[in-house]
Amino acid sequence: MRAMILNSPGEPLRLTDVPALKPEAGQVLVHVRACGVCRTDLHVVDGELRDPKLPLIPGHQIVGEVVETGEHVERFAPGYRVGVPWLGWTCDRCRYCLSGRENLCDDARFTGYQIDGGYAEYAVADYRFCFPVSDAPDLQVAPLLCAGLIGYRSLRMTGDAERLGLYGFGAAAHIVIQVARHQGRRVFAFTRDGDTKAQSFAREMGALWAGDSSQPPPEALEAAIIFAPVGTLVPTALRAVAKGGMVVCGGIHMSDIPSFPYEILWGERTVCSVANLTRRDGEEFLALAPEIPVRTRVASFPLAQANEALDSLREGRLSGAAVIVIDESAI
Ligand SMILES: [Zn+2]
Ligand SMILES: [Zn+2]
Repeated sequence: MRAMILNSPGEPLRLTDVPALKPEAGQVLVHVRACGVCRTDLHVVDGELRDPKLPLIPGHQIVGEVVETGEHVERFAPGYRVGVPWLGWTCDRCRYCLSGRENLCDDARFTGYQIDGGYAEYAVADYRFCFPVSDAPDLQVAPLLCAGLIGYRSLRMTGDAERLGLYGFGAAAHIVIQVARHQGRRVFAFTRDGDTKAQSFAREMGALWAGDSSQPPPEALEAAIIFAPVGTLVPTALRAVAKGGMVVCGGIHMSDIPSFPYEILWGERTVCSVANLTRRDGEEFLALAPEIPVRTRVASFPLAQANEALDSLREGRLSGAAVIVIDESAI
């Protein structure tokens, strides 16, 4: 089968013919139709996330069809359409797994990082971590599997904050704003300074206000979610939230956070991060998305152009989410 392979971090992916996959016990073999491109893929390819499996097939927002099952697969038969997310395996034994926080499992393994992912014609996955996906189009569903899920988990952390700031308006923010608006929240969007294209995209998606992240919002926020991997945004967002407000860091990697005066944290403001997802997040969000309904803005790339997709994301040229289309019949 054909796959885009990372041989060494810092190098471009290479289109390679690799041996056919066979599902082991508990695994499904998935014919990949489409795979979303996530900023985490960039962090892996660029070497900011350490010690990936090598060589590696990246990609953890996989939509495809089960074509074969290993022994003891109790849920999906050939022909089922599934989504394969970032969380690929947990131990089910550690104190996190036993307390509903499998996203923090000490021994968790992740798709497209420690397990080969979906920049390929086929992928194998542990069936217990796959989601059934609705009959929404492949390209629409792929970005929900990480950008949507992490955005949703970040949003839930903000409780019932009504005035919500989003820092970085890419794949995750353009999904989370639809959920936030559905819940009656008012959204303020912050982008790189001078990125008027992203600002008008944010307004089009329902932001009440959109502007440069160096600017204060027109009114104090109750919560902010930072999706951009930029540590200086933490004190910026703390200055923008009112007393009791929360700043949630939604990314897996961020540049260093500069020191800041205690007074911008004082007043019971909090800073926290969101890590990974639980299967419960997935079930909940994938059921909610079609009710809203969430519509994703997608730029598609053929498998052989995965490097171009990653470059577009790195350079901030996308409005919405990038998706790699593996099967030409993907819709
Ligand atoms: Zn565990
Ligand atoms: Zn991701």
